[in-house]
Amino acid sequence: MPGVPRNTKSDNERDLSFWERLYLPEIFKGLGYSFRKLVKEPQYTTEYPDELWNPPDSYRGRPVLVEEEGKPRCVSCNLCAKACPPMAISMQSREVEDPSSSKEREPAWFEINMLRCIYCGFCEEVCPEEAIVMSKEYDLTFQGRSEAIFGLEQLLVPVERLTDRLEYLEDYRNPQEDDEPWQHREDNNLHSLKDRRHVRELAASTMPALNNTHLRREPPIAAGKTWTGRESSPDEHG
Ligand code: SF4
Ligand code: SF4
Repeated sequence: MPGVPRNTKSDNERDLSFWERLYLPEIFKGLGYSFRKLVKEPQYTTEYPDELWNPPDSYRGRPVLVEEEGKPRCVSCNLCAKACPPMAISMQSREVEDPSSSKEREPAWFEINMLRCIYCGFCEEVCPEEAIVMSKEYDLTFQGRSEAIFGLEQLLVPVERLTDRLEYLEDYRNPQEDDEPWQHREDNNLHSLKDRRHVRELAASTMPALNNTHLRREPPIAAGKTWTGRESSPDEHG
């Protein structure tokens, strides 16, 4: 039924004073508090875009490709594209003709669809060459869908401009149990077919240990089985 006021005051609520009941003094008190904060407190907001924010090194802005000596560091292994959850990365690799180059392949083209990218940083995590890293760039605008597809021209950034992030990655990835620094590009490429030096070193250092494990023992030959695992007939064994 309308027009019947109901007092919802709880037992532990205090009674308002005379001035509080007048309402306006409290309003001016509140305005005075806001004004004091406005004048005296430091300003926390940034006047973007006149003033640009410089994010910390851990910030994940748009992914970029590292350019070293005028060339992409990328070896076109496709790992980043496989790891990218929204499938924003596409590339085509080609063989490197230069015999003095330490790389076998490089990207013929490389694209990231920035409308798909969710800035997760998985591409950076999986890249064995530290060839794709998250930059500090966050203010991207496009006037059409095609503008949002970044090719090598937009993606390549000289390594000198990415030192903050690369040093951050080094610190972030380095803590190991034995305090040995993790040489990311070197240690991540122990499997490299082109540079077999690491594979030989690894084999030399671990083979004696492997000899003592079940990994080096000959697998037991199951009686009555051929290598295909199917049951063999007595005739096949002679
Ligand atoms: S940051 Fe994430 S979504 Fe963006 S390109 Fe890399 S893996 Fe894909
Ligand atoms: S994971 Fe790294 S090296 Fe491999 S294709 Fe991507 S950017 Fe290039």
